[in-house]
Amino acid sequence: MGNKKLVNIVYNELQFSQETAKYLRKKLQDMNFTIAEDFDENADLIICVGGDGSFLKALHDYDFPNIPIIGINTGHLGFLAEVDPDGIDYFLERYQRGEYTTEISHPVEASICTRNSCIKKMGVNEIVIKGDKSRTIHLDISVDDQLLQRFSGDGILISSALGSTAYNYSIGGSIVDPRLSVLQITPLAPINTNAYRSFTSSVILPPDARVKISPEYRFEDNIVIVCDGVEHRYSKITEVDIYIAEETIEMIRLEKGNFWNKVIDKFL
Ligand code: NAP
Repeated sequence: MGNKKLVNIVYNELQFSQETAKYLRKKLQDMNFTIAEDFDENADLIICVGGDGSFLKALHDYDFPNIPIIGINTGHLGFLAEVDPDGIDYFLERYQRGEYTTEISHPVEASICTRNSCIKKMGVNEIVIKGDKSRTIHLDISVDDQLLQRFSGDGILISSALGSTAYNYSIGGSIVDPRLSVLQITPLAPINTNAYRSFTSSVILPPDARVKISPEYRFEDNIVIVCDGVEHRYSKITEVDIYIAEETIEMIRLEKGNFWNKVIDKFL
């Protein structure tokens, strides 16, 4: 019986990724899947071959497509990936039999306003607001229109639940179980002196929270916004609103409750 499922394969330029993608293509063809020549928005599945960086890039490059995705790790860490290259056969058999679950998560979104307009940017893992050229920044941070603190330091990182194990974790933020939908604000080198007072731990907020950030010195241009490692600069930022995006990331999972095994395996 023919298998009509359409698959997008995306991979990075590493030789091992290209070889893995070639093997994957052959296996999919043998199993009667259809492989999209160019990225197809109507596909049933995206298979991303690479590391976490490639996984993030694929979601950004294809504008957060509404298609289930699975990562095959040929990278360094591969925390977001579900399968290693030697598990491809096992994955495809399970996928064909429908023996998998999906884990839904949401990126964080920022509406970045200047004096003239607002622009939206998304982060799968996080959005960081930090001082350009290593300057200290001062930010008024409000949650649901209530001023939470006047932050001074290197910057702040707003993490999605999915991104809690990425940059957020490196700067002392908490690891979040993927069953929770939360926004986490984690400070980057907060200053705590008689001159300035900032929270030193992360703050965890519910999924409908709206975080508003205003540079304390209005219209200063020493702020850079970093979305999943990509820097963006805008002139005269007046305010940045950050919240959980409506877009979803639907990740294929082969084993239920594998998150904490992965944390132990990759972090401890
Ligand atoms: P990158 O080299 O692509 O990534 C840095 C490391 O973060 C890599 O080992 C990557 O895994 C890992 N990573 C990415 N997403 C992860 C996740 N959700 N959970 C656990 N580990 C994850 O760096 P980049 O291009 O500058 O930025 C991409 C991401 O890296 C950012 O979104 C940020 O979260 C993270 N980052 C971390 C630090 C830090 O920890 N000090 C600094 C900058 C950026 P692979 O090896 O599989 O790619």
